[in-house]
Amino acid sequence: MISLFRLQRVFNINQVPTVFHEDGIISGYRHPRSSATDCIWSLFQLTNETLNIWTHFLPTWYFLWKLVTVVLIQTAWQDSFTWPLLMFLLTCCIYPLASSCAHTFSSMSARARHICFFFDYGALSIYSLGSAISYSAYIFPDKWVNGVFHRWYLALAVLNTVVCTSLSCYSRLGFPFWHYDRGTVKRFPEYQSPKFSKVLRVVAFAYPYLFDNIPLFYRVFLCEGDGCTDNDTNILHYNHIALAFLTGFLFATHLPERLAPGSFDYIGHSHQLFHVCAILGTHFQMKAIEKDMVTRRPWLLEHSRPLTAVNTVWPALFCVLVNFFIIVLFSLPLLSGATGHKTPRKKAGDPGKTLTS
Ligand SMILES: [Zn+2]
Repeated sequence: MISLFRLQRVFNINQVPTVFHEDGIISGYRHPRSSATDCIWSLFQLTNETLNIWTHFLPTWYFLWKLVTVVLIQTAWQDSFTWPLLMFLLTCCIYPLASSCAHTFSSMSARARHICFFFDYGALSIYSLGSAISYSAYIFPDKWVNGVFHRWYLALAVLNTVVCTSLSCYSRLGFPFWHYDRGTVKRFPEYQSPKFSKVLRVVAFAYPYLFDNIPLFYRVFLCEGDGCTDNDTNILHYNHIALAFLTGFLFATHLPERLAPGSFDYIGHSHQLFHVCAILGTHFQMKAIEKDMVTRRPWLLEHSRPLTAVNTVWPALFCVLVNFFIIVLFSLPLLSGATGHKTPRKKAGDPGKTLTS
């Protein structure tokens, strides 16, 4: 039992395979062939992933508490008008949970790392659909409600999740079975061209976010005259938008560690700040959605199309299934054979030779 608590050795960037490298992070890497138990124990030891894990694991419970409150106290299942909020809150629980699991178990092997982050990307994609479902129900400015864009908005958001998950998964290894298969990695975008891979991933996440927010951006930045829904929820929307752009900026730029490689390995690197800003942004987004739902309820019930399972629960369920299928498709070649990233498991305490094979 005592050995379970033994601190695991951490490694520097030259001792782990390239696939594990993070820009500007020099030290604090876990063993690239950690066991599942090692990964879980690493939560209680400072490595360069520890705060990445906690900054999403703790907020999962916050959003879960919020979801349970809405379901139990407001008996939301009896009132279909609150179903879009429920879908949104559910996706707010899924994405930080998937992310914290991905960061926890990503050091088990190169293959595990790819599969973990495929799930992370899929969960983000589902969160973007959760946002779209709630925006379609509560956020559209009065003058756009029931218009052509409103009628097609949700269908396009569903399509976007397929594009977003496929593109972000593609950005790691290319197309499954074509660029990588049982024994061969014919092409490896992230390894051969990390910048191109990063650009693809930024586009994959920025595009659905920008699409989802078209009605909100129009409402709070461009709309003039009647039907603009200019209410006191807008300040919450501004907070959410500012944090969302800061989140994207941190993800894309790798600041501050890019300016001082090695100085922020454990605390303060961009991925931790990215997680914190994403959660704060989601918090303000949730508050804004809730407030618009309550404030606009009488007007929306009278003028907007009724909210049923068809425009709330079914699109969410459909997206979960389709995204799961895409992730399985990208993971299958990794599950069925070696990928060329074999790294021998070394005992903790081995001399610090390179572990790259
Ligand atoms: Zn992350």
